[in-house]
Amino acid sequence: MPEGHTIHGLARSMGELVGQRVTASSPQARFAADAVNGHQVEAVEAYGKHLLIDTSAGLSVHVHLGMRGKWLRFSPVTGPGLPQVRLRLAVAEVAWDLIAPSRCELLESSQRHALLDRLGPDPLRPEADTNEAQRRVNAFAGPIGAALLDQGVIAGIGNVFRAEALHVCGIAPTRPAKELTNSDFLRLWDVVVAMMSTAVEEGRIITVGADDRAAVPEDQSRRVYKQAICYDCGTPIDVATVGGRTSYSCPRCQPN
Ligand SMILES: [Zn+2]
Repeated sequence: MPEGHTIHGLARSMGELVGQRVTASSPQARFAADAVNGHQVEAVEAYGKHLLIDTSAGLSVHVHLGMRGKWLRFSPVTGPGLPQVRLRLAVAEVAWDLIAPSRCELLESSQRHALLDRLGPDPLRPEADTNEAQRRVNAFAGPIGAALLDQGVIAGIGNVFRAEALHVCGIAPTRPAKELTNSDFLRLWDVVVAMMSTAVEEGRIITVGADDRAAVPEDQSRRVYKQAICYDCGTPIDVATVGGRTSYSCPRCQPN
């Protein structure tokens, strides 16, 4: 599943539509594109794993890619879009096609607010409230590994960032979230912000050291996530289920 850096990267790229009137269509006929067709795109914003395209119709298009969704960019525009395209947003020189999202819907302003109220602070947003994130982590009844995946605690972290950030901080995914100290949390937040920001710039998650980062193979790009042994110390990786997803951690680097 795409993590927050992917959605923020998309929001940045799709920013090319801002200020333009878009031709909106749904070749698949499963989205009411007429409601925003011919209107101006006012903003494209990412909040965690959610993308919001605000329009001059007073409606926002809310997209969650889920496991299989993707946006494809066509420039120049060729043809009307494949029949499986849920939503096409086109201007003269470029078209963005949305395929297989888990959610694509229109939100009124009040619904947009309600969506954002349900999300925790997003480490990639400049206005993210660190104190609020800490409050939500410490109030979470369960392990930190589950808290980090709960989008109502912190928005945008998925399974890869969870594994890699906890490893950098030496925190076991099973440690109760409420037991994180002030300094534990601040260190974790800083690591998450830095790791996710780098991933937006690089377009992928690489946590190992490398001179030529673009050349690092996908399956060798993480220190613990889906690894047999720890990149740092060589200890066999612990694989468990935490927060409903498979967690990867090093029992030596992250003893508790
Ligand atoms: Zn280790």
